[in-house]
Formats: sequence, C-alpha cells, structure tokens
Amino acid sequence: MRVLQVCAEIFPLLKTGGLADVCGALPGALAKRGCDVRVLVPAFPAILRGVPDAKPIAGAAGLGDGTRLLCGTLPGTGVPLYLIDAPALYAREGNPYADEAGQPYADNHRRFALLGRVGALLADGLDPAWSAQVVHGHDWHAGLAPAYLRAAQLHTGRRLAGSVHTVHNLAFQGTFGLEVLGELGLPADFYQTHGLEFHGQVSFMKAGLHYADHITTVSPTYAREIQGEEQGCGLDGVLRARSGELSGILNAVDDAVWNPVTDALIPARYDGRKLAGKGLCRLALQNSFGLGPQTDRPLFGVVSRLTEQKGFNLILEGLPELLERGGQLVVLGTGEPALVAALVHAAKTHPGAVAVKVGYDEDLAHSIVAGVDVMMVPSRFEPCGLTQLYGLKYGSLPLVRKVGGLADTVVDSSLENLDDGSATGFVFDRFDARDYGAALRRAFALFKRKGEWQEVQRRAMAQAFDWDAAAAQYLAQYERVMA
Ligand code: ADP
Repeated sequence: MRVLQVCAEIFPLLKTGGLADVCGALPGALAKRGCDVRVLVPAFPAILRGVPDAKPIAGAAGLGDGTRLLCGTLPGTGVPLYLIDAPALYAREGNPYADEAGQPYADNHRRFALLGRVGALLADGLDPAWSAQVVHGHDWHAGLAPAYLRAAQLHTGRRLAGSVHTVHNLAFQGTFGLEVLGELGLPADFYQTHGLEFHGQVSFMKAGLHYADHITTVSPTYAREIQGEEQGCGLDGVLRARSGELSGILNAVDDAVWNPVTDALIPARYDGRKLAGKGLCRLALQNSFGLGPQTDRPLFGVVSRLTEQKGFNLILEGLPELLERGGQLVVLGTGEPALVAALVHAAKTHPGAVAVKVGYDEDLAHSIVAGVDVMMVPSRFEPCGLTQLYGLKYGSLPLVRKVGGLADTVVDSSLENLDDGSATGFVFDRFDARDYGAALRRAFALFKRKGEWQEVQRRAMAQAFDWDAAAAQYLAQYERVMA
C-alpha cells in the first residue's frame, strides 16, 4: 500500500512540539510493517539542510512560480521524503508558522494551501515514479489535502486516493479571512457549512474534518472529548456528525530517541532493574541548575510550551506547597511572556529549589526527563501528550490531569491502584488547585515509601507505548479508506 504522510514539521529536522515527534516516528513504523510510505513537507531551511540527498523530481512540473518538488531521505529511516521547494513561501528561518515576534505569517494560507495541493497532486501523477493510494494529513497545515482530492474527483469523475486527517490539537485551526478563498483554487461551492466555511471564514482544519474519508486523533479520550462543546473548539458539531468516521489512535514513544537504556544525551544509562543511573542523572541535573543535591524529597520537572493549556497557573499556585514540603522544581520551556516572567520570578525568589531555563533545548529535555522524580503535565486539555509518556519510560512518574491522552496513559497511585498493581503516576480530576494539590501530596507521600515508589517506577517503565502497535492501527484504517 502506497501512503503519503503530509505534515509541516518532522523530527529530527524541524520541531516545535509533539507533532514533529509523531511525524518523525510513524513513517518508519509503517515502513517496518511493509507499507510503501513517503512523507511530504515544505522545504523550510532547517529541513533542506538536514536532507543533503534531496534531488529534483524530473517531470514534477506544473507547480508554477518556480516551485520544485525535491525528494531525499528522512534521516535515520530510509523513508523517502518529498520537499516542496518554494523559496518565496518557505525560505524563512525559525518557527515554521510565525515570525520572530510570534505573529503568524500573513501568507500562511498560501504556504499551507500549497502543502495540501501538492499532497493531492502526489496521488495524481505529479511524481511519474510514485503515486499515493492514501493521503494522510496532519493538523490544519495539511487540512486542504482532502479538499483538493475531492475537487479533483469531482472534476475528473475519478477517485484518486483515500484520505485520512489526523487532529493533533484542535485548538489550532488555520482560520483565514474570506478574501483568501479565491487564491486556493478550490470550487466556489466548497465554501459552505458542509465544507470549509467556519463563521464566515475559511478553516483549513474544518476542510480536513469535512473532506477526509476518515478522521483520527491522537488518543481515544480526546476523540470523545472533541465531540463535546467544552473541547470541540467550535467544531464539535462537525465532529459529532462524523463520529462514525472518527477514531483515536494513541501516540507512542520512539524507542530510538527516548530510551534510558541507550540515550546518549543523558549522563548515565539505566533500566528498571538497575536504577542507579537514574540517581546519577538526578544529581547531574541538580548540579547543573544549582539545586541542592537532596534525595529525600522529590524533584519535579516540566518540559513544555509555556501556555495556559499546559496548566502553569496550577503549578504556580501550588508552588508554595511544593516548596514547603521540601520539593524542587525544574522547568524548560518557551512561550507566553507572562508565564515566562512568573516562572523566572519564582526561580529568582527560590534559588536552590526552583530552576527555570527559558528556551528550546532538545538535549536538556532528555536530561530533565531522566533526572527528575516526577514529570508534571497538569494540562487543561491534552490531545495525547508525549512528555508523560517519556516520563513513564524513564521512571519519572507523571503527575497529570485526567484529560485527553493523559487520562489514557497514566494510572493514579491511589491506595486501591497501588494494591492491585496498576498505579503508574499521579492523576487528578478537576482543573483546580485543590485537586492538583492533593495529587502533589500523593507524590510526596509515595516518595517517602521508597520500596513502593520503585515498584511504581518499574511498572511505569514497563508500559508499552510502541509505534508498531499504533502503525498497525493506522494501516487498518488505510485499508478501510482504500476499500
Ligand atoms: P505539544 O505538542 O502540545 O507541545 P507534547 O507533549 O505532545 O506537547 O509534545 C511536546 C514535545 O516537545 C516533546 O517532545 C517535548 O519534549 C518537546 N518540547 C516542548 N518544549 C520543549 C523545549 N522547550 N525544549 C525542548 N523540547 C521541548
């Protein structure tokens, strides 16, 4: 089966969040299962630099404006990677979606319409040597691919390929003013409620949700949640109408990148049987951040975009209690200036107990995941969440809110769950300081019971979130949309 993945970011070439981790790992897992998979991305500078073997596809004409289609290999996988080389749209360093001031680029509709259009064209002979039978787009950036496929089908009377659209975060929708419509080259009547119209605007995400043969999202709980008003971001009606074609496939952990047994980015390696290395990782982390070398109270960690979504107001509200109980906190992240300021202030006020690194640092992320006792992800909403999965894998027990993929992946250390041997972390229900504080206290309480803590650690580390299982589910879905 020939499958094209269409996405805007991909690990290890360009990453702003979990989307890149997923798009970097899924193709390799599909290929291992015998799928003839390829990936399409915009040729952003970081991506171009990372694919030195990229060569123009002879015969891929018709894209206009000097745009070329290149093909190389996704590093570490052998999976063919198509790049859309359109310098006027993509030759911009840094964040792929926004300028240095954090403002979304004014021509984002053009930049990502081209991504969707080329995705559809790769099912229509754009590359004379390979044609997709299934086009699988990720998030709003690829949302127009199913719309272009449908438009081509209406035009020719021929179905080109099946389509799958995956929602990684419904809060980002790619919504543009009506004036962009004429530039997209889609039939005028696609602009309607049962199409890509969204409150008088054009929504790329809605196009994906409406025109794809099947919709997936990154956890079963999030698949249910987004069909409700609270988490539907205004698209819950569309999702409810398509509930028969909507499923949740849980993300996984790329073992080649996140694995305490082999991780070259951490000071010492370890596994569930020999945890001594984890102690060394903690000490090194404490040293590097000027935190006291204590071992009798837990060290909490966060690696995250600094946004309201991720529950930083709970972390800040609960900080006095965390410190009173003798805990330590280390945070790595970038994002909203108000949160940056509040966290930096907390670190200044509590040197030796709170450390904050503002920035994006892949290596440090590994050191934190390995060195802390507790990974915190107290999100307001969370489609899947990856850092809690990394926490489990590294024996850094996740403290999470019972929402989205967090609810699907972490089991609370309540007495009954400890007793029946299912506990893997700390889970709280309501998004408020009381519930969060209770989970925090459970973490402190369990940490005092070294034997039980290690038992939970070992169970956490033994959880299997492997891409092979996820790939099998995606393949089953591809079979269905091809049929
Ligand atoms: P989201 O995609 O909503 O940002 P996820 O938990 O799904 O959240 O994925 C976040 C990914 O980005 C993880 O791989 C995490 O380690 C990484 N990450 C987030 N912030 C940073 C940062 N400041 N430095 C390094 N890695 C980060």
